Amino acid sequence: MSFDECKTALQNSCICVLPTETVYGLACSAFSPKAVDKVFSLKNRPTSNPLIVHVLDHVEASKISYTNKFSEKLAKAFWPGPLTMVLPKKECIPYKISADLDTVAIRSPSHREFRKMLRSVKFPIAAPSANKSNKISPTRYQDVLSEFGNDCPPIVDGGSCQIGIESTVLDLTTDIPEILRLGSCSKEDIESVICCEVNSPEGKCKIDNFTSKSRKSPGQMKKHYAPETPLYIYPSFEKLISDSFSEDSDVILLPSKNYIIKNSGAELTIQYLSKKGDPKEIAQNLYHSLRFLDNFRKDKMFTSLFPWDNGVLSAVNDRLIRASTACI
Ligand code: AMP
Ligand code: MG
Repeated sequence: MSFDECKTALQNSCICVLPTETVYGLACSAFSPKAVDKVFSLKNRPTSNPLIVHVLDHVEASKISYTNKFSEKLAKAFWPGPLTMVLPKKECIPYKISADLDTVAIRSPSHREFRKMLRSVKFPIAAPSANKSNKISPTRYQDVLSEFGNDCPPIVDGGSCQIGIESTVLDLTTDIPEILRLGSCSKEDIESVICCEVNSPEGKCKIDNFTSKSRKSPGQMKKHYAPETPLYIYPSFEKLISDSFSEDSDVILLPSKNYIIKNSGAELTIQYLSKKGDPKEIAQNLYHSLRFLDNFRKDKMFTSLFPWDNGVLSAVNDRLIRASTACI
């Protein structure tokens, strides 16, 4: 399906799928409440969950929101790129996009095809991840097709997404800026640009906090980004590989081929997130690997959180926690 077909869809208050450097997005004109309805409906997304609006640059952002010194500095440093900023919205943004909030989340994507579309249609494009609500975000063309099946709108094929997990969402409407969703743009990256403290949920994504807390209350994890196969989290990858697996019905997700399962009496299905443990490669492959393992339709999936305190791996941990059923 072609670029022009997608452009026509956007211009006619219809929807299409566009690639971004984070994940594929289900796109519509940010000025068309009718098209916004179609996005919510196909995704089966609750109307209380607002959409991110994509623009070419900070000047365009200032036409749809009240920008400020922080947003200007951050846009200079990170746009185009995986940072979404929440700002007070201007009237031209329909309340359907912001879920009745007076704010709007804005990002400037770096993907060539998405930027070409923004230049071509000349209006801002709302685009949440192109998956059914609460399911895994697609990072490849084929993943979008299998997500929506016969209902799939036209797609621009942009290859596999370079970053592979959703953008960092930063709220700039509070006294202390606050990270609402972890992504590859870290708290430290942001603080170094605006030279002030930023609140972040990072602590929850460290392995010690997760395992001790969730063991006491395993039902309390907020599920999102979840595969169909129940995902179980070991306290460490070392514990996982030293356990004995005897069931063919298990599938396992490991950081790299440096991790070798020692006691397996079964034909295990193993997926590696990277060649040598590179954090960027791990993030890039995360969602596709979860989808790949899910397709085997086995009983249980096993992995661990990453112990390393690194920006993008904190975001990977965050997604694994939300995808998980329980910890072991
Ligand atoms: P997705 O569309 O799947 O990439 O998710 C968009 C994320 O941005 C969700 O976590 C939303 O809750 C968040 N978001 C979008 N708009 C706003 C807003 N105005 N205020 C706070 N969070 C927002
Ligand atoms: Mg999403």
